[in-house]
Amino acid sequence: MEVILGDITKLEVDAIVNAANTSLLGGSGVDGAIHRAAGAELVDECRSLRGCKIGDAKLTKGYRLPASFIIHTVGPVWRGGNNKEPELLAQCYYKCMQIAGDKEFNTLAFPCISTGIYKYPKILAAEIAVKICEEQLQKNGCPQRVIFCCYDQENYEIYTKILSEMIH
Ligand code: ADP
Repeated sequence: MEVILGDITKLEVDAIVNAANTSLLGGSGVDGAIHRAAGAELVDECRSLRGCKIGDAKLTKGYRLPASFIIHTVGPVWRGGNNKEPELLAQCYYKCMQIAGDKEFNTLAFPCISTGIYKYPKILAAEIAVKICEEQLQKNGCPQRVIFCCYDQENYEIYTKILSEMIH
């Protein structure tokens, strides 16, 4: 597992994860950036998927992205923490890791799901992300590289701290 600070649409990996909404038809934040960079064909494929539930994940091609595939997942909106937000966020990471494992992807990059417009507290979200990915890596040894692609300094520092504390 590693952390980088940057734009996920620029990464040459087997798959990037999109923090989508239930329609899968594009939105703001990282979702908008991915749809813009992938091009209009992406929305056609997304339309055929007929939406995605919160905590679930669906695979599409990457189209004009440097990444080959996109795993679209829908994180929970933070509504205080007592509305299954932790379970649903954990499900997102779990499902994405499962798909990556099934497809034998070597490299997978995640954005900080739900920590933008959906307002999930960043530290709590990062703890779940790292825990679930670590568990799945221990179990399946796949994908070989999991990249947490942070777009803001605060998330970058949070992930850096959590990952460094795991090593020592
Ligand atoms: P959500 O609705 O799940 O909160 P957002 O897109 O609003 O989704 O935010 C999720 C995270 O993605 C935020 O931490 C935001 O800073 C980050 N983000 C926005 N644009 C990009 C990008 N191009 N690459 C990587 N992360 C991004």
